[in-house]
Amino acid sequence: MVKTNPAWRALSAEGKTANLPEEKTETAKPRIGVLAIQGDYDAHASALQDVGAEPLLVRKPEQLEGLDGLIIPGGESTTFLKFLERDGFLESLRTFAADTPTFGTCAGCILLATKVLHPPQPSLGILDATVERNAYGRQIDSSIEETATKLGSDFDIGPLETVYIRAPRIQQVGKDVSVLAERDGFPVLVRQGHLLAATFHPELSTDRRVHRYFVNMVREARDSTPHSAPESGHKPHRKS
Ligand code: GLN
Repeated sequence: MVKTNPAWRALSAEGKTANLPEEKTETAKPRIGVLAIQGDYDAHASALQDVGAEPLLVRKPEQLEGLDGLIIPGGESTTFLKFLERDGFLESLRTFAADTPTFGTCAGCILLATKVLHPPQPSLGILDATVERNAYGRQIDSSIEETATKLGSDFDIGPLETVYIRAPRIQQVGKDVSVLAERDGFPVLVRQGHLLAATFHPELSTDRRVHRYFVNMVREARDSTPHSAPESGHKPHRKS
């Protein structure tokens, strides 16, 4: 049976879903923002397209409205912070990522962490992890490894190529954080509920498993979220 989706009706009214009216709720493309301030956001947008999501570049806090998920890409976390600390963008991101699926890669992982070292710096503080910036030293600023994953049987079909560029190291994680891949005994891919974080750059490999895994997280969260706003609950990211 084809279900109608109030969120679509709202979007259709704005003329944004002209090609989608026949689709079922469960198969509608998740709308996933990619923070496009700096770094390799285009590669993430292509990866999202490859796995059936609709990428939207986010450059202003108001563009977070109505998104089903968000990727915070790699780049330079200090540069991100300079930009985000203007106009309350950091606070809007924190509110968004507190309950909407968000994937941080490399600098994005640093931004999500509760504690940042080397040197200490502000962050969104929502992923229960201690992250050390540039932990692999200058001589191995970049490397490509083959890494086993624990993403689930559909995904763990062989080693994953993991590309590290001036990568951080996740030194410690809290009890609610699952380690989905490791390098030399340190986590490189972790999940805490609706949050996913990688110290490598999955968008730079042709293997799309990690993006597919994140899009599945987004679909699950979206399809289990009632679209009608609860009477007293604060639901800042949905227009309907
Ligand atoms: N070294 C960068 C930082 O500290 C992260 C590098 C990356 O995102 N590839 O923010």
